Amino acid sequence: MVTSNFKPIPYGKHHVDDNDIAAVIDVLQNQFLTQGSAVPEFEAALQDYTGAQYATAVNSATSGLHVACLALGVEQNDLVWTVPNSFVASANCARYCGAKIDFVDIDPLTRNISVTALEEKLAYASAHNALPKVLIVVHFSGLSCDMKEVSTLTQKYGVKLVEDAAHGLGGRYLKGKIGSCEFSDIAVLSFHPVKSITTAEGGAVLTNQKQLDTKIKLFAKHGVTRDPELMEGDSEGPWYYQQLELGYNYRMSDLHAALGKSQLSKLDHFITQRQQLAARYNQALADLPLRLPQHSNLKDSAWHLYMIELTQHERKQTYLRLHEKGIGVNVHYIPVHLHPYYQRLGFKLGDFPNAEQFYQNALTVPLFPTMTADEQDRVIQALNEVLA
Ligand SMILES: *Cc1c(COP(=O)(O)O)cnc(C)c1O
Repeated sequence: MVTSNFKPIPYGKHHVDDNDIAAVIDVLQNQFLTQGSAVPEFEAALQDYTGAQYATAVNSATSGLHVACLALGVEQNDLVWTVPNSFVASANCARYCGAKIDFVDIDPLTRNISVTALEEKLAYASAHNALPKVLIVVHFSGLSCDMKEVSTLTQKYGVKLVEDAAHGLGGRYLKGKIGSCEFSDIAVLSFHPVKSITTAEGGAVLTNQKQLDTKIKLFAKHGVTRDPELMEGDSEGPWYYQQLELGYNYRMSDLHAALGKSQLSKLDHFITQRQQLAARYNQALADLPLRLPQHSNLKDSAWHLYMIELTQHERKQTYLRLHEKGIGVNVHYIPVHLHPYYQRLGFKLGDFPNAEQFYQNALTVPLFPTMTADEQDRVIQALNEVLA
C-alpha cells in the first residue's frame, strides 16, 4: 500500500519562481506574443552561456533535431547513426527525413557512445561504402561524450556530427560548455520541464557555422526568408519574402522565450544544486549492491539524471517496492531499437548488448534542484531498505 502521510518524490521536477512568472506576464501584457524581441534575447543569452556563435530557439528539441538533420542535408536513403540508449527523438529525426537509421552501442562505464565501437563500425562502413551522413551523439544524463575523440573519427570519415544535448545544458567538456559546438557541427538543447531549464516545451539549435545557421533558421521557419541576399532574383519590395526550402513552423513563442531567458539566469545555481545532491548520493549509496554513475566527472556533468544499476536485485520488483514507499524512480530508456516501430525496420534484441544490459538493471532516482535534504534522506533510506 502507498502510505499517505507523505507525497511521492518525483524523479525530476522543474522550478519556476516569481521572476519567471513576471517575465511571462510582461510579454503577455506588453509585447508581441510571437516574433517579438524575447526570442532573439533568449537566443543571444544561449549563445553567451554556451559559447556557440549562433542559436535558434525552436518549439522542442525534437523539432531541433529534425531541423539539424535537414540543415545537414539528410535525405531519403541517407544513413544516420545514433545510440540506442536515448529517447526515441534522437533516432526519429532521421526517419522524418526518410533516412535510414543505425545505432552504435554504448560504453558501459560512461553510458555514452563507445568510441571503440564507433571506430570499428566506421572502419567497416568505410570499407563497405556505407558511411553515415550524420552521427548524433547523446550526452547521457548530462555527462559529455568524449567529443574530441568522437570528432577526430567523424572528421576522418567525413561524417557530420550532431550533439543531442537535451541532457547536457549546464555541463562542461574540457574547457568549454556543453553546447559550445567546439567539436561538432550542431548541438540541440531541450527545455522540457525535467531538463536543466524549462520553457514548458522548447529547444534550441546551436552552431558555429554561419551557413548552417542560415539553413537551420530557414527550415525552422517555413523555409521562408525576408533577407534579399538569400533570395533568387530581386526583392519586389519591403513586403516581399520567398520560400526557398520546404520548411516547418518550429518557432518558439515569445512567452516561452521569456520564461527561458529568466530560467537561464538561474541555470548555474540549478546545476550546483544537482551536483551537490549527486555527490551526496555517491557517498550515501556507495556500500549498496549498485553500480553508481562514474565519479571522475562529477564536476562537469549537468546531472540531468542520477542513474543506478542494480547488481543483485531484480529491477521490476525494486521499482515497485520503491514506488510503494513514495519514491518516484523511473527508467531511462527502453533501447530505441527495441520499440515495435524500430523492430519493424529490422532491429532485434541482442543487436546492442551494452545498451540492453544497462536498460535491464537501470533505475533513475529522484534528483532535481529544489530537492530537500529530507527528501533525499527518504530516497536513501528507502534504497537501503529495499536493497538490504
Ligand atoms: C528530452 C529529450 C529529447 C526530446 O526533447 P523535447 O524537447 O521533449 O522534444 C531528445 N533527446 C533526448 C536525449 C531527450 O532526453
